[in-house]
Amino acid sequence: MSNKLILVLNCGSSSMKGAVLDNDTGEVLLSCLGDKLILPDAFITFKINGEKHTVDLKDKPNHTGAVEALLHELEAHGLRDRIAAIGHRVVSGGELYSESVLIDNDVIAGIEKCITLAPLHNPAHLLGIRAAMKVFGSLPNVAVFDTAFHQTMPEHAYTYAIPRELYRKYGLRRYGAHGTSYRFVADETARFLGKDKKDLRMVIAHLGNGASIAAVANGQCQDTSMGLTPLEGLVMGTRSGDIDPSVFSFLAQNANMNITQITDLLNKKSGLLGISELSNDCRTIEEEAAKGHEGAKLALEIFAYRLAKYVASMSVASGGIDALVFTGGIGENSNLIRSKVMGYLGFLGLKEDAKANEAARFGNAGIISAEGSPVCAVVIPTNEELMIAHDTARLSGL
Ligand code: AMP
Repeated sequence: MSNKLILVLNCGSSSMKGAVLDNDTGEVLLSCLGDKLILPDAFITFKINGEKHTVDLKDKPNHTGAVEALLHELEAHGLRDRIAAIGHRVVSGGELYSESVLIDNDVIAGIEKCITLAPLHNPAHLLGIRAAMKVFGSLPNVAVFDTAFHQTMPEHAYTYAIPRELYRKYGLRRYGAHGTSYRFVADETARFLGKDKKDLRMVIAHLGNGASIAAVANGQCQDTSMGLTPLEGLVMGTRSGDIDPSVFSFLAQNANMNITQITDLLNKKSGLLGISELSNDCRTIEEEAAKGHEGAKLALEIFAYRLAKYVASMSVASGGIDALVFTGGIGENSNLIRSKVMGYLGFLGLKEDAKANEAARFGNAGIISAEGSPVCAVVIPTNEELMIAHDTARLSGL
């Protein structure tokens, strides 16, 4: 066990997720979730040694109050002095950051500059960063950007076919997301398969409530399905993914909806939820589909079909496909979705090993394609927090 622990923080506008990790073993010693951080009934829940308890934050219902409560909790458990550095998840680093960085005033200004690209997230991250700097004094702070891994995408992958002036003026281009997960999973896949990641052409599907896919070759991202925002690409829990942009004018003219309402519909009421008219949760949908619910069956089919089409197109970006990797809550657990996707990709010679597919669930990694399959399908659990901890330790010189 390491003496130096890393605190990983992921701040939303009214929430703060935190974890204290042993960077060597990946063990999580404490985790917390602060919520309602702008309201009088703000609270933070701590989980340590398998037990949970909640602390009221009504005297300071903000991010500083949450970080102070976390500091007290760490002191109470004798962990405060073992924290060596703090890593912060940051949604957008735009074109400014292609890797993680130690935070100083210039980096804070850089994260501020990227607010137009992540108007809901970056301001919240800055609240968390400032609170951590204030409460933890001289500890190093590191920013780990969701977009950084995708900065290697070539121009022809990240440019939209719209007037280029919009890119020059506003930075309107594709940036991608889930980059920290892709970086972790690409490394783990190479390790698991006993290969050098530079020799592997991988298509990695990160399938959680938000879902995306990336093409990785030479150890670098070549393309990804999310774009300017996380709305583009695959069908997701509540997001539509790719859609004809004329849907905006169609709904404005026919359903009398404004831009805010349509954006909300595509982000929060669409995807698995919109199609199934049941739930955004893949587990619930699978259960209902098994009982014959038509909407649930259609939602699963569309999810898998669109994903398979994306696997094929991402293989163009990676110059072929040696490994198809599934990760995220759905990717790591739904053998049904994986089986459907592999079925659609049969034309590649990809053949499922049904037994192995059934076994690779609940945190178990595994190869799920049959022996001799020209494309190796594999399940690799992601761990974004550990990736953030690794970067934080490295950049802090630990
Ligand atoms: P994440 O956002 O990565 O936590 O993933 C959440 C998604 O994973 C939700 O749609 C869950 O329904 C899905 N999920 C988790 N466990 C299972 C499971 N055993 N079978 C199918 N989907 C699952």
